[in-house]
Amino acid sequence: MKILVLGAGQLARMMALAGTPLNLQINAYDVNTDTIVDAISQQAIGRGLATAIADADIITAEFEHIPLPILEQCQQSGKFLPGAEAIKAGGDRRIEKQLLDNAGVKSAEYAIVNTEAQFKQAITDLGLPLVFKSALAGYDGKGQWRLKTTEQAAVLWQEIADFLAADPKQAIVAEKFVPFQREVSLIGARDANGNISVYPLTENHHVNGVLSTSVIAEATTALQQQAEQVFTKLANSLNYVGVLAIEFFEVNQQLLVNEIAPRVHNSGHWTQQGADVCQFQLHLRAICGLPLGSTDLIRPTLMINILGEDSLPNEILAISGLQLHWYGKSKRPGRKMGHINLSAVNKTELKHKFNQLIDLLPAAAFPQLTTMLEQL
Ligand code: ATP
Ligand code: MG
Repeated sequence: MKILVLGAGQLARMMALAGTPLNLQINAYDVNTDTIVDAISQQAIGRGLATAIADADIITAEFEHIPLPILEQCQQSGKFLPGAEAIKAGGDRRIEKQLLDNAGVKSAEYAIVNTEAQFKQAITDLGLPLVFKSALAGYDGKGQWRLKTTEQAAVLWQEIADFLAADPKQAIVAEKFVPFQREVSLIGARDANGNISVYPLTENHHVNGVLSTSVIAEATTALQQQAEQVFTKLANSLNYVGVLAIEFFEVNQQLLVNEIAPRVHNSGHWTQQGADVCQFQLHLRAICGLPLGSTDLIRPTLMINILGEDSLPNEILAISGLQLHWYGKSKRPGRKMGHINLSAVNKTELKHKFNQLIDLLPAAAFPQLTTMLEQL
């Protein structure tokens, strides 16, 4: 089968790496350069998007910030999974909030802000602190502002007004700040027959708004079930086919949805070494109409993002249960360049190996890992 992925980054690459053993042929469409490329090597294949759509058996996406005309073109082919509606919900926080409300799923209280009057009304109605998020194109904590005191409101509004003026399509979603105990995510897949298979909840730690580490969460059955119920509601309401990721805030054993990602997700990279079928192959199985297989945990695995570094000491590869995944990208400060998956037979051994790893990694490039170790 031939699959075309919209987006040619690391997620498309890892889909190709996971799909090759099933004889799935995966090409990627680089939206920025308007070229079709080999998803692993990035070599240009050099035919246009229309030909690639015609050639493909299935079309999918590795990110949600895709121009609407391209989404429509793919939708019209009848081959696009999970489909334009799901991608739009992931790419526009206004549509996303509407989807959550319609499905009866709890998320942070919010208001849509386009004008100064709406900005002031949001502060009155929701109270402080508030988080203001751009409706479109937000990722890795970009396009977000925090407001803690009323004294800062005028200055912040000026900044937001300038941001809105620069792009007439933008809007702001003002959200009540959630005093969460931790952040967890649920990743799973739904197939075309409505079968659902999910991984255990993952606990996520961010540094400066960017995901730093993910590890299997210590979670009660009740919490896992709560997350699975939300997953089922959302996936069913979108008639979703493929992998869907849901980010949650946990507040007193209650889960509030932070956001959804209609695709494979950074917090699911641990499944490459920690689960029977990894999230990349799970997505491909779902969209190709293959059995989903098992999403069972095989061993506790910790994922550590490599940000802004293109080399690490080779000695880390001597740690048993460690796998290194580079994305073949050129170096830029803070850029997601790769990740490390560290697996062990149990939590105690995982902590021990993590300690070994921390000693070998350049401390400046991996801040807060020691804090993470203490929390593990
Ligand atoms: P990513 O692409 O990394 O998922 P993003 O840019 O889409 O991030 P969010 O996930 O909405 O943005 O927010 C980034 C982080 O900011 C969250 O993981 C959380 O730590 C914090 N945050 C966002 N919204 C709130 C909120 N309402 N209350 C408290 N913290 C929040
Ligand atoms: Mg997020």
